[in-house]
Amino acid sequence: MLEKQNWKSKLAHSFKNIKDLYLYLGWPLSDNINDVASKYPIFIPLSLATKIKEEGPEGILAKEFLPSHLESDRDFNSFGLIDPIGDKSYLKAPQLIHRYYSRALFTPTSICPVHCRYCFRKNELSATEDIFQNDFEKTLQYLKDHAEISEVIFTGGDPLTLSNEKIEFYLNSFEKIKSIKHIRFHTRYPIILPERIDTGFIEMMSRFSEIFKTMSIAIHSNHLNEFDESNSNVIKLLATTNVQLLGQTVLIRGINDSENALIELFEKFIELKIRPYYLHHPDRVHGAMHFYLPIARGRLIYQGLRQKLPGWAIPQYVIDIPEGHGKTPAYNPEDYQYSGKLISKDGRIVDLKEPDLFV
Ligand code: SF4
Repeated sequence: MLEKQNWKSKLAHSFKNIKDLYLYLGWPLSDNINDVASKYPIFIPLSLATKIKEEGPEGILAKEFLPSHLESDRDFNSFGLIDPIGDKSYLKAPQLIHRYYSRALFTPTSICPVHCRYCFRKNELSATEDIFQNDFEKTLQYLKDHAEISEVIFTGGDPLTLSNEKIEFYLNSFEKIKSIKHIRFHTRYPIILPERIDTGFIEMMSRFSEIFKTMSIAIHSNHLNEFDESNSNVIKLLATTNVQLLGQTVLIRGINDSENALIELFEKFIELKIRPYYLHHPDRVHGAMHFYLPIARGRLIYQGLRQKLPGWAIPQYVIDIPEGHGKTPAYNPEDYQYSGKLISKDGRIVDLKEPDLFV
């Protein structure tokens, strides 16, 4: 019970007010940053704010989690999209996005343990959005009617915001649908608020890993500086279960857009028994276009990873083609230069011009 109160109370006492945060950091707050935060609010647990403070205003963590005046830059953001990956057109049942044949995304919460400034849902992280509206009986019915769906992927928001009891309720419900064999969680909690990975959660994951064919946790992390003793220890504990640990990383300008930064990160993943799974090219997010980099640059960085890391330590470098075309490899072995075309999941050639500003 103590553990439970601990992470919930830490979450509840996160910084949500920009003035309080800057007072704590002891850094000057400009009118511009104040304005940006009124459009794109902050959400930062105290433990993370402490790490941001220690690293300083030019640190990696400050860039990932503090507002920037570039979020309201008109030139950059004229290329940004509100729903950059086109999820809404695949919302087939309440909280269920069915875009890929055998997998469905389940979005039971809009709440995250932190607001990442580059987030692809930056403009949609609100409980009032369509993708978060709940009618679980209809969700279950859709899953029963679509036996091709063998994997349910808990996402959001961050699904570990739910209590253990709620997660257990969902898992028990999915277990009754025989076609569902795999469960995956996409989360930032192990890195941002490791207290969330409490004894009850670990026991529950272990138990359900005996019931489903695979239980996976895809841990979202972008830079070595996000790790410390506390989150490393929690991940080591998770690695003692039968749950498969995957790493997902967003390639972000100014954060990790170098071979060295990514190699250090993936070596840390390997040390903690996290398999690097996805390296996402940044989405074209309105309010986050300053994090974007050209595909040709991403390809050159990825080529460096291919030279220096063993194949099993290299994630797939993928890009989500806007307007719902889905994920596709971003690495093109024919040329590092980008032709302006990509092959979508269903084999179509899709035109996707890069804005001149970024080439
Ligand atoms: S945890 Fe994920 S969904 Fe939440 S703000 Fe960060 S990137 Fe967005």
